[in-house]
Amino acid sequence: MDYMVSAVALEGQVRALAARTTALVDEARRRHGCSPTVTAALGRALTGAALLGSTLKDEQTLTLRIVGDGPIGGILADVDAGGSVRGYARNAAVDLPLRPDGKLDVGGAVGRRGFVYVTRDLGFGEPYTGNAPLVTGEVAEDLTHYLLTSEQVPSAVGLGVMVGPDTTTRAAGGWLLQALPGADPAVVAQLERNIAGLGAVSQQIESGRAPEDILATLLSGQEWRAVDTRPLAFRCRCGRDKALGVLASLGRDELVDMAEGDAGAELTCHFCGEVYRFTAEELAEMAAHLERPV
Ligand code: ZN
Repeated sequence: MDYMVSAVALEGQVRALAARTTALVDEARRRHGCSPTVTAALGRALTGAALLGSTLKDEQTLTLRIVGDGPIGGILADVDAGGSVRGYARNAAVDLPLRPDGKLDVGGAVGRRGFVYVTRDLGFGEPYTGNAPLVTGEVAEDLTHYLLTSEQVPSAVGLGVMVGPDTTTRAAGGWLLQALPGADPAVVAQLERNIAGLGAVSQQIESGRAPEDILATLLSGQEWRAVDTRPLAFRCRCGRDKALGVLASLGRDELVDMAEGDAGAELTCHFCGEVYRFTAEELAEMAAHLERPV
């Protein structure tokens, strides 16, 4: 099962998160037919969005958009307070040769010129969007830069996805570490050593280490406690009723045209790939309903 643990140390001066996301990343891969490179890129974005959304409550949502000049054409990841994570890459089939070091070329697929956008919908007022330029297109570095420049929170972020030879997701996860400005420099130096000693997060997850184990390494030398554990899953907020609403918004004439074409209509949810089909009879019935005076 996928989940995320939030922890604090040094009376709240240090905040840390760690997540395992293997199942939800693989569900995204399966739903969208992602290539290995896109599985890694989308998986890092989905995991990063989950980490950024760790403080969401009630009906609040967070949307992460990564728009670069690479062939993937943009990634969108969206999370809510219940740990539902969903998202897609514009070109899911794009694949690139491995980098010289044998790793998937996420930066090449995303592109190194572009922007990260983070939108928080807190359930009141207008949603707030912050942005920052891409640094490497490797996602973790881009989010680190975003948090520092747009949200003014010095942070370190690790994200990793390991794709197996059969192209399924073998392991995925991430962590995020934040020290409040003014935190003891000796503590910050210790945390930096801990990060350097952690290694790739995908390998940690693959070897069976739980989010709590990753936190224990990240916060080694400090007294820390877990303050929240949140299950995570790939889940979409779409549904047949919402698809109906989209069709109805086209208006009566459009629906009549579609019904006369006799082929019905098909709507695909971008976020999860779910297909909603409506017969010509259903379209005609809907058009008749729209005709009635209200
Ligand atoms: Zn959906």
